[in-house]
Amino acid sequence: MKKEDIRIGVNRYLKVKYGVTLKDAKEYEIFNALSLTVLEDIIEDWNNTSCTYNEGRCANYFSAEYLMGRALGNNLMNLGLYDEVKEVLSELNIDINKIEEIEEDAGLGNGGLGRLAACFMESSATIDMPLNGYGIRYNNGLFNQNVEEGFQTECEDNWLKYGDPWSIRKEAEAQIIEFADMTVKAIPYDTPIIGYGTKNINTLRLWKCEPMKEFDFILFNNQKYDKSVSLKNRAEDISRVLYPNDSNNEGKLLRLRQQYFLVSASLKDIIRKHKAKVGTDFQNISENNFVQLNDTHPTLAIPEFIRLLVDEEGVSFKDALESAKSFFGYTNHTILAEALEKWNVNLIKKLFPRVLEIIKDIDKELIKELKKKHYIREKIKEFRIIADRQVRMANLAIFVSKAVNGVAKLHTDILKDKELNNWYKLYPEKFQNKTNGITPRRWLRLCNTELSAFITDLLGNEDWVKHLELLKGLKKFENDDVVLEKLMQIKHEKKVQLADYIKQEEGIEIDPNSFFDIQIKRLHEYKRQLLNALYILDLYYRIKEDPTLDIPKTTFIFGAKAFPGYRRAKAIVKFITQIADLIDNDKDVAGKIKVVFVHNYRVSYAQKLFPGSDLSKQISTAGKEASGTGNMKFMLNATPTFGTLDGANVEIVQESGEENNFIFGLKVEDIEKIKDTYDSKKYYEENPSIKRVLDTLIDGTFDDGESGDFEDLYNSLLEEGDQYYLLADFDLFKQEEEKVFATYKDKRNWAKKCFANLYNAGTFSSDRTIQQYCDEIWNIKKTPIK
Ligand SMILES: *Cc1c(COP(=O)(O)O)cnc(C)c1O
Repeated sequence: MKKEDIRIGVNRYLKVKYGVTLKDAKEYEIFNALSLTVLEDIIEDWNNTSCTYNEGRCANYFSAEYLMGRALGNNLMNLGLYDEVKEVLSELNIDINKIEEIEEDAGLGNGGLGRLAACFMESSATIDMPLNGYGIRYNNGLFNQNVEEGFQTECEDNWLKYGDPWSIRKEAEAQIIEFADMTVKAIPYDTPIIGYGTKNINTLRLWKCEPMKEFDFILFNNQKYDKSVSLKNRAEDISRVLYPNDSNNEGKLLRLRQQYFLVSASLKDIIRKHKAKVGTDFQNISENNFVQLNDTHPTLAIPEFIRLLVDEEGVSFKDALESAKSFFGYTNHTILAEALEKWNVNLIKKLFPRVLEIIKDIDKELIKELKKKHYIREKIKEFRIIADRQVRMANLAIFVSKAVNGVAKLHTDILKDKELNNWYKLYPEKFQNKTNGITPRRWLRLCNTELSAFITDLLGNEDWVKHLELLKGLKKFENDDVVLEKLMQIKHEKKVQLADYIKQEEGIEIDPNSFFDIQIKRLHEYKRQLLNALYILDLYYRIKEDPTLDIPKTTFIFGAKAFPGYRRAKAIVKFITQIADLIDNDKDVAGKIKVVFVHNYRVSYAQKLFPGSDLSKQISTAGKEASGTGNMKFMLNATPTFGTLDGANVEIVQESGEENNFIFGLKVEDIEKIKDTYDSKKYYEENPSIKRVLDTLIDGTFDDGESGDFEDLYNSLLEEGDQYYLLADFDLFKQEEEKVFATYKDKRNWAKKCFANLYNAGTFSSDRTIQQYCDEIWNIKKTPIK
């Protein structure tokens, strides 16, 4: 696109959409006009890609969540238009950063699982793979978080307030979705997924739920206004909000409706395309299509697929089940028991009775197979899809899916050896590992242009953006002082930018010359933000005791949303902010360490935090974090990991070397050994540091607003036995952080560790992950358009 075309396009869209000229246009109007200008420019390639994909075999990603973040900057960069647009705007006296910042994040996901889906979509477009994304167009994404008096408060997210210029409503491709008690329309909104350096443009199709008719005319005429629109509201409720749930399962009726709505609309869409292409022969539907289930949330797709084939297309149950067995793959994201999805049989029966019948028939097939293989009754019960009046979604997904995958080596091993060992013994060939990844476009090229330019300079070209393993080519500079110094200079620049942003967003000043120790992720007990907080509190007391304590000036940064109904998680937010206040108000300590809790952690904030970090805190209880992807974002921005041997940390350290990271704490096998005899109270009694920090939870040092929340935290660690082993890992954490501080003194040595993380990060590109899904599960091929 030429500069002149950009200018003309922006002016035209300002005129027809808002009736203004540039000089009167608001930032959001310019954002929309610019986005539409670019969209217009790519429509042909986009349609061409869809048509080309339709001719061959496609994979379809079914996910209840897509944590996309902002689109504009990424799209411009991937199209190679960023600099042109920046110049055009600058000639018009407009700062491109302001236009980028006006865009609301599309926060249609909770955390890692939703962000993974977003990275996968971008990678598949970049490597020209025919992957379609299907999801729900929630009117309100993940809640916005505020911190008031140290307490988390929530308010609705309104990401559509300025419109959504990148999506196109495809009225003609609406589907009708039937529940036992209501019939609704699913309207697709298509968003282009623009790859880097390719003409291919993939599609994310999100469904919005609407009523069959806007209102009841007769009721309205009889002045029953509320009632006349109640059906409309009931329908719109289905795609109204994203459930703010991460790693735990809530058996909400509306969520079950959402799940069915997503899978029924998406499967009908796939079947529509199949019929247009092949006709009514369903023998080979699984030759042309594959569906990947992102966790169990879309698992109703399995019985719904069979229902559609049997009831609407006249296929026999046996054939439909056979087709399903080569049509679906299932990704497991967690081993936390509280996250395993189970739905009450009555709920399913109430909303979609026929789907329940089919689930029962699938269950019968499972039993038949197990009996044939001489499993005894007791054993069969473990596998059952329906048991104790509950439908176990994971069992349904595993039984029917062609492939079951974990998301990091350790996680997959735990699935095979422990959590799903019974299934693994039954179907060893189904189990696979696909270690997660992140897109280097958003998580380096876009968010850290300074480091990117430096890498390009060193390597001589930008090929690394598409082939991240080329970062290995930097290794030859590992002892080059000029390179190491420049790396640390860039890091400092990114820390200054982060400090400015934190000043703007939080009104808090932090020192960019201090060490930035960062823990950012959803708040959960297993992620152990509380352990980090207890460590910092202990450090505070140690500085009080010994003002000469030799540590670098350090800023501890936290960012995390807590599930609104998760009392302990919210108590931890308050505890962290209380520690922050304690330190700020103590002149003996305030110049040495500082704690900041940044509010409303989300993708756009993350893009500022990862590049401005000195240390990546990844301290989950060993065995609990399936993979983590935040850990990879830090690594790619040249930041060493401080972590347990959990999830993908294991592979991160394998790639970049244990000596370049800080690994501490109990390992999975250590926990296995102590778990039956673990006595957290012993640590409290025998370790005065632990006693000192835990007592602050009950002795009035801190204020929890008389909620009793801090005492509850105290009890979780002592009376309830500390199920995440914080106290067992406390001293090990402390020793390792000492090692960090000692190591940081030697700046050159530190720079080498940062650099080693960068040049070894190549394998954590989601391009690699997607290629593995394509080759080993989906069986789809690169399909570049002409
Ligand atoms: C990457 C990312 C996550 C996942 O972080 P983990 O540390 O892997 O849990 C969550 N939220 C946002 C906004 C992210 O960008």
